Amino acid sequence: MNDIDSRVAAFFDLDRTLLDMNSSTLWAKHELLKRSISLRQFGRVLLWNALYHLSVIDIETAYKEALAHYRGRPYDDLEEETRRWFARDVAHHLRPGAGRALREHRAEGHQLVLLTSASAFAARAARDTWELDDFLSNDFLTDDRGNLDGTFIAPLCYGAGKVQRACAWAKEHEVDLRQSYFYTDSYSDAPMLRQVGKPRVVSPDPRLSREARQRGWPILQW
Ligand SMILES: [Mg+2]
Repeated sequence: MNDIDSRVAAFFDLDRTLLDMNSSTLWAKHELLKRSISLRQFGRVLLWNALYHLSVIDIETAYKEALAHYRGRPYDDLEEETRRWFARDVAHHLRPGAGRALREHRAEGHQLVLLTSASAFAARAARDTWELDDFLSNDFLTDDRGNLDGTFIAPLCYGAGKVQRACAWAKEHEVDLRQSYFYTDSYSDAPMLRQVGKPRVVSPDPRLSREARQRGWPILQW
């Protein structure tokens, strides 16, 4: 990696960008099969995902509801379970175009950074599976015994929160956002797309598709 190219980052959203579907749906299926959640709870996850896709989700409420389910659970246990689930149920959902983009940016010496509203458990597994340089995601607080206490680190890594995280990361790593890329499918990521010099819209939702056409952002179909 040379000095110039390492100042460039390629940020990637996870759900419906690197992956061809939403990882939280896959997690909910996993939980349903284990009978850890009810059909009704599974339905709630599908509803949130639909709202997310329309960029009208109240993500704080969704996260609070989800975290209430995991309150008291050891952080390390959930990390390990997520790692096994990711290898078995998620990794093969990488879009072919995403795999190509990761290889091309790596060859250019760019820093590969996952920028997602998924959990740190899933993001860490994704980083290790695809050998990314770093990840920015949502993480959760624990009590003094290492059990989830039902709260998350604010602001959530979503919308303006993604911008805040990515800008802080870029400053810390001396990365120039004007030369950097962000790939995403979601209108909720429009604020972050406006922060980078090279926005890339991937199989976008209808609102993002319209915004991309108006702004002249390249639209990719992976
Ligand atoms: Mg997405």
